[in-house]
Amino acid sequence: MKKKIFASIFFIALACIIAMTGIVTYNYYTNYSESQIKQLKQETQLVIRGVELNGEIYLSSLTLDEYRITWIEPNGEVKYDSSSDKTTLENHLEREEVKEALETGYGESKRYSKTIMKEAIYVALKMDDGTIIRLSCLQSSVFYLILSNLYPLYFVAFLSLIAAIALAFILSKRIIDPLNKIDLEHPLEAKTYNEVQPLLEKIDKQRKQLIKDKETVEKTSLVRQEFTANVSHELKTPLHVISGYSELIKEGLAKEEDVKEFSAKIYKESYRLTKLIDDILELTKLDNGALDEQKENISLDQIVSNVIDSLDNYASSKCICFRTSLEHTEIYGNAKEIHSMVYNLIDNAIKYNKDNGIIDVTTKKENDKVVLIVADTGVGIAKDELDRIFERFYRVDKSHSRDIGGTGLGLSIVKHTAKLHNATILVESTLDKGTTFTITF
Ligand code: ADP
Repeated sequence: MKKKIFASIFFIALACIIAMTGIVTYNYYTNYSESQIKQLKQETQLVIRGVELNGEIYLSSLTLDEYRITWIEPNGEVKYDSSSDKTTLENHLEREEVKEALETGYGESKRYSKTIMKEAIYVALKMDDGTIIRLSCLQSSVFYLILSNLYPLYFVAFLSLIAAIALAFILSKRIIDPLNKIDLEHPLEAKTYNEVQPLLEKIDKQRKQLIKDKETVEKTSLVRQEFTANVSHELKTPLHVISGYSELIKEGLAKEEDVKEFSAKIYKESYRLTKLIDDILELTKLDNGALDEQKENISLDQIVSNVIDSLDNYASSKCICFRTSLEHTEIYGNAKEIHSMVYNLIDNAIKYNKDNGIIDVTTKKENDKVVLIVADTGVGIAKDELDRIFERFYRVDKSHSRDIGGTGLGLSIVKHTAKLHNATILVESTLDKGTTFTITF
């Protein structure tokens, strides 16, 4: 770019200099030629005077350096010539200036002279007796004029050319330097042209987006790695239990009274395994985004009722009872995902409740929003754990969660579903008193 700017400035200046010197030279040359002819005409008139008074004697008496004088008869024969022997000269009737002078009294022409072997100017005037006096002189070449008269102009043009080169160099450097100094890592700090500012803002925006994307990709890949490691660990534990106990039974190493207990353990771990796989599949589906075309207007209170019905036996087994306040509320969402979300919240409220505990479930409209509240009177969650319970496989009490069939994925499913339905989650909890989850759609 610097080279281009330099070349542009330089060539514009060069073109101006060439045009200027060309025009001046052409004008000067034209004027010079005209004044040369004018002067030649005056000289011819003077010579005619002399010839009229003294004839050929006058001509012979002249000492001429610059001019050649020829006296020509009306029939074209040369009567006198100052630079050649007249007998050697051919008839001049066909010479352009002579022809013209015979017809009109005055003639002029420019041509190459065979006699003097140079470009020459001719002026011819007819005398009263019909003869022609012709004066000629060398025509100055442009090169001669430049050398003799125009050299100051060409000297100035040469200096201007050098100044143009210097100026083009300085200007191109000045234009490009602020652009070269732009630090693309911090484009907004650059002190450059106002015109470039929108471009720099765009670059800065794209740069920030790139950093953000990079961080997201890194974070996602880290989460994936952790997830895969956790999944294999979580799958291995129940599988070890299942294979261990089933092997004991198969090999006949289990006492008969233990077989029932071992089978129950195998059943429990298989159930956990199934639940774990279901939760993983559910999460994977949510990771890929909820399918908008599967969204519809659904009744939240109806879904809550269905979930409570399906978990009623489980709650009763722990002497936990439900208190419900279900206002009819509709949301736009995916029925299956919302069902799973409500299921996980109420299932947790039972799992982490105390015997004889209570679960309050509310659905209501509040300022154009739909609110779902699940509150229990259970073990509660410590304040410093609250931020982490939505992480995959995070469990406050790992062994207790495993004992009661937890997978550590329930709240991750809740979080993802809320996100895909533009809902917010609020958790309030007091240790040993209970936990309240508020979802606002
Ligand atoms: P889990 O399958 O272990 O229940 P979740 O993702 O559903 O996994 O929950 C993560 C952790 O959050 C649980 O292990 C539990 O320690 C805590 N938690 C979730 N819900 C409640 C609740 N209602 N009361 C107390 N602790 C809870």
